[in-house]
Amino acid sequence: MDVLTGIGDMQVRAERDRLAGKTVGVVPTMGALHEGHLSLIRAARSACDVVTVTIFVNPKQFGPEEDFNSYPRIFDRDLSACENEEVDVVFAPEAGDMYPEGFSTKVAVSGLTTLWEGEARPGHFDGVTTVVTKLFAITKPHRAYFGQKDAQQVAVVRRMVRDLNFDLEIIVCPIVREADGLAMSSRNVYLLPDERQEALALFRSLKKAEELVASGVRKSLDILEGMKQLLTDTEIRKRDYIAIVNPDTMEPVETLEPGQPVLVAVAARVGATRLIDNTIVTLAE
Ligand code: AMP
Repeated sequence: MDVLTGIGDMQVRAERDRLAGKTVGVVPTMGALHEGHLSLIRAARSACDVVTVTIFVNPKQFGPEEDFNSYPRIFDRDLSACENEEVDVVFAPEAGDMYPEGFSTKVAVSGLTTLWEGEARPGHFDGVTTVVTKLFAITKPHRAYFGQKDAQQVAVVRRMVRDLNFDLEIIVCPIVREADGLAMSSRNVYLLPDERQEALALFRSLKKAEELVASGVRKSLDILEGMKQLLTDTEIRKRDYIAIVNPDTMEPVETLEPGQPVLVAVAARVGATRLIDNTIVTLAE
């Protein structure tokens, strides 16, 4: 496994692989790798000749009050995990190389980035689309792997790829959960034992939404009402939003139509930790 930090070195390596006719799969991450990340790596490993994992805690996607400084960084363990998964290249650039003095470009998707996560975290998606654009230009993937855990990120990145004609395929992998249902996240390490239990309310509220839809409930308001009860019965300090939306546009859906998948998304603060989770549900035809 090669570990590269230089942008130029990474570009040369990626170009060489492409010229050799190899399919390049890239998994962008911020490190602190868990089974969720590993599922993306395995999906890439099974479909691509060369698997590149990027590890970069991107300062531009954190707000001033957010956890950039305390974000977990366990580089050596991440490297072992990548080695175990037979990753070919780890690209781990320095922030100063990604954003040198004079850096002045921003890639921004409008519209769907102002809703939900975008509203709660102003500027977050501009940071994401800017770094993803740079990572694509550096690692030159044929396929790039993202997790459904960050459903709005998927919608935003897909829109950017379509709008800007990036010549690559976005592959989305399902949410990986702990045995009790908590969605895996690098931020789960912040949770105190009591909070870890309370955090399960997010998953339970999504299960409730799935049950209501399976029983034929069509009105989003009725589904949201059922979910709210589960979220207020717990110690969850602050619910940022619960939403039932079109998974591509992130616009609210009032009434579910048979056969039309909708995204049910929730964001809440448990203690000091902000968690997000979601599920896709479809009313039976
Ligand atoms: P991050 O390191 O948090 O930026 O995540 C890197 C990638 O892993 C993103 O595409 C995430 O959506 C994905 N990811 C994170 N957690 C999970 C999970 N529990 N299941 C599936 N994918 C995940």
